[in-house]
Amino acid sequence: MVRFENVRKSYGHLTVLDDLNLDIAPNEKVAIIGPSGSGKTTVLRMLMTLEEVNDGVIWVEGDPLTHMYRDGKLVRANKRHIRQVRSKIGMVFQHFNLFPHMSAVKNCMEAPITVLGLSRDEAYERSRVLLDMVGLGDKLDHYPGQLSGGQKQRVAIARALAMRPKIMLFDEVTSALDPELVGEVLNVIRELGEAHDLTMLMVTHQMGFAKEFADRVCFFYAGKIAEQGTPDAFFGNPQNERTQQFLSAVL
Ligand code: ATP
Repeated sequence: MVRFENVRKSYGHLTVLDDLNLDIAPNEKVAIIGPSGSGKTTVLRMLMTLEEVNDGVIWVEGDPLTHMYRDGKLVRANKRHIRQVRSKIGMVFQHFNLFPHMSAVKNCMEAPITVLGLSRDEAYERSRVLLDMVGLGDKLDHYPGQLSGGQKQRVAIARALAMRPKIMLFDEVTSALDPELVGEVLNVIRELGEAHDLTMLMVTHQMGFAKEFADRVCFFYAGKIAEQGTPDAFFGNPQNERTQQFLSAVL
């Protein structure tokens, strides 16, 4: 479903990801963990085309994300191609990134109307169903400022889903929440994972959730995947010294 092939990413002289290779199967749930600054967020941002890739190719359902074939050669893609491939991907951010001047339902309706060309009625109905699904059916007309952090994050999840993505990216979506609000957001993500055909990549510091939710855990260290495996193998019997150090510090 998603493939990073020999991907390199630098910011100036700082190489953040070095020759990254990662294959993610359809419907697979992958937890990305690692110390601060190890490039976890950058992986998601490149997939969302919010950051440029310096080298290598990212593939989404067999299509190169930022490149296209012309006369049998891989060349840099135009904006239309990138938009079309990226429309398969939704992202939820640490700090919600909701439009503050729009109600919950309007936040969800915006992109389906402007990007997908849905009518207002269609977009409203789609958004209403999704907000209901994340437990906010009674808060459609509330503005972000009137919602708790957990509720805002659930609006952000509904908003991403309103574009009917096949791939969902979650970037430390519980990090900015008070501890008592973390559970409600993780529950929504858990239910999504169970009920929908979604491929999910989740950068998280919630080791308990990664263990229970993910099919695979990838541990990033110094620009590379230092270790990956099933949660049982990864948490139960980590092989890499860096993984062992990291887990003993955070568990
Ligand atoms: P954290 O767990 O702290 O969020 P992370 O593993 O997600 O960290 P990234 O956010 O991907 O790490 O950042 C990797 C490195 O790249 C860090 O050293 C960061 O300071 C640097 N970096 C990230 N974005 C930029 C940018 N736009 N310009 C310059 N450096 C950046």
